[in-house]
Amino acid sequence: MAGFKSFAEVAEVEIESGLTGIVGPNGCGKSNVVEGLRWVMGESSARQMRGGEMDDVIFAGTDQRPARNLAEITLKLDNSKRRAPAEFNNDDELEITRKIERGKGSSYYVNAKPARARDVQLLFADTATGARSSGIVSQGRIGAIVGAKPVDRRALLEEAANIRGLHARRHEAELRLRAAETNLERLDDVIAGLI
Ligand code: ATP
Repeated sequence: MAGFKSFAEVAEVEIESGLTGIVGPNGCGKSNVVEGLRWVMGESSARQMRGGEMDDVIFAGTDQRPARNLAEITLKLDNSKRRAPAEFNNDDELEITRKIERGKGSSYYVNAKPARARDVQLLFADTATGARSSGIVSQGRIGAIVGAKPVDRRALLEEAANIRGLHARRHEAELRLRAAETNLERLDDVIAGLI
């Protein structure tokens, strides 16, 4: 990552299989690393990034360093077991990049090819993870799960069953269907007006 939150310079974090610990004094950027992971997986809410707007993830400068205008994170995933969804399953490595330029919004790339936010979000949803995945347990989350409404707890089971991507697609299909129904109704009105 580079230019993301407190990481003005290029920083690399290697996450090995098993347990990886990130230690450091208060405010050194530990949570920013985890937020970076969620951000590159397609998080769309600035509030989830502890900001007012998405541009707030860009390094804002310090007394010694000027602010940046670009933040960029690349997530490099081992795909040697070829578990990626079919359309991205051509290489032993999968590289997902998200960039944000001040005032210009985010752009995404999968293996250096431009992609949409939705493609990246679905890629992770289809592999039972993602920016809002229960695999990322933030502070207070355990209590929230224990006290969650059944319908919210069901979302966890759906994620474990790897069907969240299907739900997202169904939701999109329902929206398209509703738009088509509205168009048909409008068409009926137009036809009625012509008769
Ligand atoms: P704690 O142990 O207290 O939870 P932490 O190591 O998790 O702390 P973070 O919360 O990740 O620390 O980092 C907070 C730091 O990141 C603060 O010093 C804050 O000023 C800095 N920071 C956040 N956003 C930006 C930004 N856009 N530009 C520069 N610095 C930023």
